Order: sequence, then structure tokens, then C-alpha cells
Amino acid sequence: MKAAVLHEIKQPLAIEEVERPQPGHEEVVIRVEACGLCHSDLHVADGDWPQFNKIVKKPLILGHEIAGQVAQKGATVRDLSVGDHVGVPWLHWSCGQCDFCRTGYENLCVAQKITGVTVDGGFAEYVKAPASHTEKIPPGLSSVEAAPLFCAGVTVYRALRQAEIRPAERLAVFGIGGLGHVAVQIGVALGAEVTAVDISDEKLALAKSVGAFATHSASAPDTLKAMRSRGGAHVAIVTSASRAAYDLAFNSLRPTGTLLAVGLPAENICFAPIMMASKEVRIRASAVGTRQDVREVLAMAAAGKVRCRVATRPLEDANEALEELRRGQVTGRVALMP
Ligand code: NAD
Ligand code: ZN
Ligand code: ZN
Repeated sequence: MKAAVLHEIKQPLAIEEVERPQPGHEEVVIRVEACGLCHSDLHVADGDWPQFNKIVKKPLILGHEIAGQVAQKGATVRDLSVGDHVGVPWLHWSCGQCDFCRTGYENLCVAQKITGVTVDGGFAEYVKAPASHTEKIPPGLSSVEAAPLFCAGVTVYRALRQAEIRPAERLAVFGIGGLGHVAVQIGVALGAEVTAVDISDEKLALAKSVGAFATHSASAPDTLKAMRSRGGAHVAIVTSASRAAYDLAFNSLRPTGTLLAVGLPAENICFAPIMMASKEVRIRASAVGTRQDVREVLAMAAAGKVRCRVATRPLEDANEALEELRRGQVTGRVALMP
């Protein structure tokens, strides 16, 4: 089968023929119809996270926003049939037995496998996944519409749910990319007053079109002043891969506000303890989501409350698509189609 393969970090993916996966007893093989390109794929390909490099499979097929159809299944798979419309998230497998799996935090499983990181992902014609962690896509959603929900969607859904934002509270979204434009919509659905901040006018226009109450350029000198004049943000979610977004987000908070750390820049972030204490700021981080979170965000999308802006490209264009994402030229999401 055809696949886009990472052989070395910082090197272009090789578009090449590799062996088609075969399902184990409890696995399915999915014919990939669309696989979203997430900024995390770029971080992995560029080796941005040294803490992660040692767990990255080599050579690796990236891609963890997978949607397609079950093509084959293992002997003991009962709940899925050939032809089912399904998706595979970042959380490829979790053990079900560790403290975290047993307390509702399977996304933090100590033995987890990660799609497109520790095992091969969806930048390929076929991908293999455990049936237990393969989710059915509700009727009404195409593979292209559904794919980004398996990471971008579920991540911001869980993060905003954890922040316990209440109707009429002010939510600021820093970074209106694949994750951010979904975060704006979920914020609106939760009844928040959503302010969007990005460095690109095109992305701010996207935020406005999906319901943002206000938009600000991150580089405009009066952005913080404008946000503080409304009292500051109750919750500021950072869905940018830039450290500068964290600095601005922290400073946009009202006292007792929550900084939601989701974007994963290579650099460390740093805040003055006196400013943290004097505002009694809360800092909360969130990691993708559980299978239940995936089901809930898929249901929201099927009900029309969330819609990803997705442009498609053939799998062969994976390197061009990665380069556009690196340069900040992707508005919404790009999904690769084998
Ligand atoms: P993206 O490239 O689509 O979006 C990033 C956005 O940030 C772009 O719109 C860009 O213009 C904007 N931006 C750049 N500099 C900015 C600044 N100074 N201020 C405000 N906005 C700025 O990326 P994505 O796929 O949405 O992913 C975003 C980040 O989230 C990445 O770091 C990714 O690794 C991370 N991520 C985290 C999790 C998690 O579980 N925590 C899950 C998925 C992705
Ligand atoms: Zn992702
Ligand atoms: Zn576990």
C-alpha cells in the first residue's frame, strides 16, 4: 500500500510502498478515506519535543485523525463489521487496568499506545487499530468532516469541559488553527462570550464566521487593553504552538481565571509567581481525550453544533501540506486523502 513515511526527524516524508497491515484477533484494518494533519504531526516530524523522541516509532507513518471504512477484522471482533464507518484517535490503546484507566483518565494510561507516534498512523491507504479503540462515526458525517474531530475536536472538547466554563463567561481562544476554530464553536455552544486571538487576519475571519463575539490580532498593541476593558477572560485556552500566545493568554486573565494549556510549543513557558498569586490564577492542562470524549464530540458534530473547516489534499502532497502548516498558511484543517 501507499504511505507517507517518516524515516528521520527533520527530513521530508517518503511517499512509498509499504506492506499492508493485517489485523490481529482483536483488531480491524481500516481503509483510510481521510486523515487530518495536526500540528502535533509537525512537532513529531520536526523533533520539537525531545521528551517524546525516544518513544517515536521508526520508521513511522504519522497521522492520528483517521476516518474510513473497516476493510478487514480479526476473529474475535464482535462490535464492528466490514464496511462500518469508523475513526481512530490519538489514543490508540489503553490498558484498562492502571489507576488512570480505572478513574476516568484513560487518556493518561501509563501503558498507552499512540496512533502515528508509537504505532503507525493514517497517512496511508490502510491502518490497523484495536477494535476496542475504534469509534463508529455517526450518520450524517463524511470522513472528511469527521477526521479532525478525532484529535482537534476531542482535545478542545475535553479541555473546555474540564475548565467548567459557564454561560455568559468570557472565553478567549489563542490560536485559531485546527484546534482553535473548533474551540470557538464549542465555546459558543457552551454559551460563552468568545474572543479569538491569532496573528493572521484570515484566521480571525474564520473565527468570526464560526461565531466569535470579538477578534483581536495577537500583534496589535491594544489587544490586551481591549480584553481587560471587558474584565479579562474567565478562561483563556491556548491552542497555538507559539510560546508568545501563552504570555498574552496569561496576561489576559481576570483574577481567578483559568489558563488552559493545550498548545505544545517546543519552548518552556514561564510566568512570574507574583502575578500568578496576585490573581489567584489557575493553570490547567489537557491531553486529547478519552473514548467517551470522542463519542461526545462526534455527537455534537452530528447534531450540527460543530463543523470543521477542512481542505483536502492527496496523500502524495503530504510534504507540501506539512510545509504550509509549518508556515502558518493552513486555515482550518487539511485532511490527506489516499
Ligand atoms: P495550527 O497550526 O492549525 O494552529 C495554530 C494557530 O496558532 C495558527 O492559526 C497560528 O496562526 C496561531 N498562532 C501562531 N502564533 C500565534 C500567537 N503568537 N498568538 C496567537 N495565535 C498564534 O495547529 P493545531 O493543529 O491547531 O495545533 C495547535 C497546538 O495544539 C499544537 O502545538 C499541537 O501540538 C497542540 N495539540 C495539543 C493537544 C493536546 O492534547 N494538548 C492535542 C492536539 C494538538
Ligand atoms: Zn493531534
Ligand atoms: Zn491504563
